[in-house]
Amino acid sequence: MNSIELKSRAKINLSIDVLGKRQDGYHLVEMIMQTIDLFDIIKIFSLNEDKIIISSNSKDIPTDSSNIVYKAVNLIKQEFSIKRGIEIYIEKNIPVAAGMAGGSSNAAAVLVGLNKLWNLDLSKNKLKELGLQLGADVPFCIEGGASLAENIGEKLTNIDGLSQGAFILVCKPELFVSTKEVYEAIDSKIIEKRPDNKLLIQLLKENKIELLSKNMYNVLESVTKEKYPVIKEIEEIMLNNKALGAMMSGSGPTVFGLYNNKVDAEKCKKILLENFKQVYLVKSHKKGVEING
Ligand code: ATP
Repeated sequence: MNSIELKSRAKINLSIDVLGKRQDGYHLVEMIMQTIDLFDIIKIFSLNEDKIIISSNSKDIPTDSSNIVYKAVNLIKQEFSIKRGIEIYIEKNIPVAAGMAGGSSNAAAVLVGLNKLWNLDLSKNKLKELGLQLGADVPFCIEGGASLAENIGEKLTNIDGLSQGAFILVCKPELFVSTKEVYEAIDSKIIEKRPDNKLLIQLLKENKIELLSKNMYNVLESVTKEKYPVIKEIEEIMLNNKALGAMMSGSGPTVFGLYNNKVDAEKCKKILLENFKQVYLVKSHKKGVEING
């Protein structure tokens, strides 16, 4: 086997709570993560020479050693003393710096891909352990589906996710939001409202999309919204166009709305496309990373 191709899926958050901060700077969170069927394609090729080459159709991501995919290859090479080369092409569809774990998901795909390409035979748990060294969201991207994520985001409990009856309308305004800045800003804020994750998990189990939509909550939203009013504008467009609920994902600026009716969701998508370029109508998915073919 000389090459492998994978789907690397994005996530949204149905809730985010921040409970504190560790001494190493990582925040303690309690959040519900959901894989969605919006994906990048990661193509990995073996090279004869011992080097790492990265290219992409996107101008928004680096192609040098600062790309998280480069770090993922290096991590595996170092951990298992592998002296082989790899070329990776990233076909980017997931909005960048959007709160959708695009980079983390690419790293997850590379770990899964190299495990197969190099016959490493690593368990999913070992891959998640390695993934955590690259970023707190990487283990979830390897796991996929829906999870309650605790501690720094790596302690995962599988839960029932959004059903196939739920339509997820995603809109990313043309802003780049720094996750680090948003988390830093929340430290100096008093959090007055928090999500009820137990209730949300129960509503997911009972497939009560309408009630779920009304109870979703992201404590980071007020921070990003204050700086970028366009987030509120998108939410209002969604809510005025029959979304059951609308919320910011991750640290933003992506906003998503939930629908249980495809026609309404399609209508709102058209309206959003008049002002925004990155608008997608997707469903949930059970796998974060998938080998193509
Ligand atoms: P999260 O939800 O995990 O915070 P995000 O969606 O906000 O992630 P990313 O799309 O992962 O953010 O991008 C964050 C930063 O990482 C950007 O500045 C981007 O240039 C850089 N980056 C490095 N490698 C990648 C990659 N393979 N894909 C996307 N971004 C990358």
